[in-house]
Amino acid sequence: MHHRSEPLFSAMTAAFLDRSKRNFIGGQWLSAQDGSTIGVVDPATGQTIARVPDSGSAEIDLAVQAARRAFEHPSWRRAKSSERERLLLKLADLVEQHGRELAEIEALDNGKPVEVAHAVDVGMCVSGLRYMAGWATKIEGSTLDPGLPYMPPEGEFFAFTRKQPVGVVGAIIPWNFPLMMAIWKIAPALATGCTVVLKPAEDTPLSALRLAELIEMAGYPAGVVNVVTGYGHKAGAALAAHPGIDKVAFTGSTEVGKRVGHAALDNMTRMSLELGGKSPVIVLEDVDVSRAAAGAANAIFFNQGQVCSAGSRLFIHERVFDRVVEGVANIASQMKLGPGLDSSTQLGPLISGKQADRVCRYIESGVEEGARVLTGGGRADRPGFFVAPTVLVDTSDSMRVVREEIFGPVLVAMPFSDVDEVARRANDTPYGLGASIWSNDLRAVHRLIPRIQAGTVWVNCHSLIDNALPFGGFKQSGIGRELGRAAIDLYTESQSVLIDLS
Ligand code: NAD
Repeated sequence: MHHRSEPLFSAMTAAFLDRSKRNFIGGQWLSAQDGSTIGVVDPATGQTIARVPDSGSAEIDLAVQAARRAFEHPSWRRAKSSERERLLLKLADLVEQHGRELAEIEALDNGKPVEVAHAVDVGMCVSGLRYMAGWATKIEGSTLDPGLPYMPPEGEFFAFTRKQPVGVVGAIIPWNFPLMMAIWKIAPALATGCTVVLKPAEDTPLSALRLAELIEMAGYPAGVVNVVTGYGHKAGAALAAHPGIDKVAFTGSTEVGKRVGHAALDNMTRMSLELGGKSPVIVLEDVDVSRAAAGAANAIFFNQGQVCSAGSRLFIHERVFDRVVEGVANIASQMKLGPGLDSSTQLGPLISGKQADRVCRYIESGVEEGARVLTGGGRADRPGFFVAPTVLVDTSDSMRVVREEIFGPVLVAMPFSDVDEVARRANDTPYGLGASIWSNDLRAVHRLIPRIQAGTVWVNCHSLIDNALPFGGFKQSGIGRELGRAAIDLYTESQSVLIDLS
C-alpha cells in the first residue's frame, strides 16, 4: 500500500503493511462486526497507509470477556511467577529482534525519526519488558505481629499481607509514543498476572497490532492480551465504562483523563491517569550557556514537542537570557525537517493536520496577544503536517501560549530575576508533570527541587525516563506512578490476612 515517493523500509515492514489489520481478541484475529475501518495516515505525506477496525462497544465487550476468561483460566491464573518472568523475557527478545521493523512502523505511523524510534521507543520497550520480568518473581507482602489491645492477653495471632493481580486491565493510550505507552501498561500487567484489553490511539494503531503478533508468537495463553482499535469516543469510552474491567490505565490529555476517571469511578474501577503538562525549564545564572541552550532546545523539540513532559516554558535568569534564548533559536532555525524514515531528519511532522492546525492557532493567539516570534511561526512549506520549530518571547504569564499545553514544537522563553520568583511562576500552572533545573550551583539546585510541584525534576537534563524510576504527575497531570516498583502497586490489590492461632 505504500507509495513510490516514500523512502525505503524493510521487507518485514512492507509485509506487515500489506497484511489486513484486525483486532486481536481471545487469541483470534477479528474484524469489526460491521466491517467498518479507520484509515491510518502517514503524517509525512498525508497518504493513507493502512486500514484498521473501527471498533465499538460490541468488540470491546468481546475483548473484556476474553480477558476475563483468560484471567480465570488455570493456564494463566496458576502460571508460576517464573513462567510470567520467562514469557516477558521472551517477548523482550522478540521486540528486540524486530526492533528495526517496529521503529519503521512507528516512524511511518507517528512521523518520528526512525533512529530515535529505534533507540528510544523500542529501546525503552525492550529494557522495560526485561525490568518488569524481574519483578514477576519479586512481588511480596509482609508479615506482622498484630497488637490487638482489646483481645485477652493469652491469645496468639499472626498476620500477613499478600498481593494479587488486580484483574482485567483496560489500557487506553495516546499517539505520541504508541509502542512505548503500550509496554508501560502491558509489562507490569503481565508481570503481576493481570490480563489486558489495549485500545491504541486511532492515529497510531499499527505498532500495537504488530506487538500483538509478537505476543502471540511469544506463547501467551489466548486472551491474556487483547488489542482493539477504534476511536476514543467509541471504543475508548466503551472500555473505560465497562463494568467487567477491574482497572483502567490511561495516558492522554487531562480533559479526556477526567472523563475516563469519572466513568471508572462509577464502577469503582481502579485507575491510573498519566495526563498533560506544561513543564518548566529553569536556567539559573551560573549556567554553561551553550549546554543550557542545547538542553532547552531538546527539551521542547524532541518528538516534535509532542511529549507530555516537554519543556514548553523556558525560564532564563535575566543575566543570561539573551544568550541562552539566541542559542535555542539558532538550534531551532537549523533543524532539518523531514519524514521520519529519512535518517537525516531531526524534526518530523506532527501527528495530523488537525494537530498542526491546532498548534498554529496557538502561535497566532500568542502573536495576537503581543508575543514576538524569534524563529519559526507556522506550517513549514512542504507536504505533510510539518510545523517549524518556534520560539516566542515578550510573552506575559496570562497568555494562552504560556498557560495551555500546545503539544507541538512551540517554546515560550521568559526572563526571571530571582529564585523565589521563578519557583512561584514555575508552579503557576494546573499541571505538575516534569521540570528541569539547569545549574552547577549545588546549593541552589537542592533548595529549589522541593519547591517545584512536579512528579519528576531533572537537573541538567530533561525528559530522561528510566524504567526503574517512577513517572507520573502532581496536580492535574495525573494520578499514580508508572514504571519502577510503583507500577507493581498499580497492578496489584493488597489482601490482609489475620489468623487466630489459639
Ligand atoms: P487524548 O486524550 O485525546 O487521547 C488519548 C487516548 O484516549 C486515545 O487512545 C483516544 O482514542 C482515547 N480517548 C479519546 N476520547 C476518549 C473518551 N471519551 N473515552 C475514552 N478514551 C478516549 O490525547 P492525545 O491527543 O492522544 O495525546 C496527547 C495527550 O496525552 C497530551 O495531553 C499529553 O500531555 C498526554 N500524554 C501524557 C503522558 C503522561 O505520561 N503523562 C504521556 C504521553 C501523552
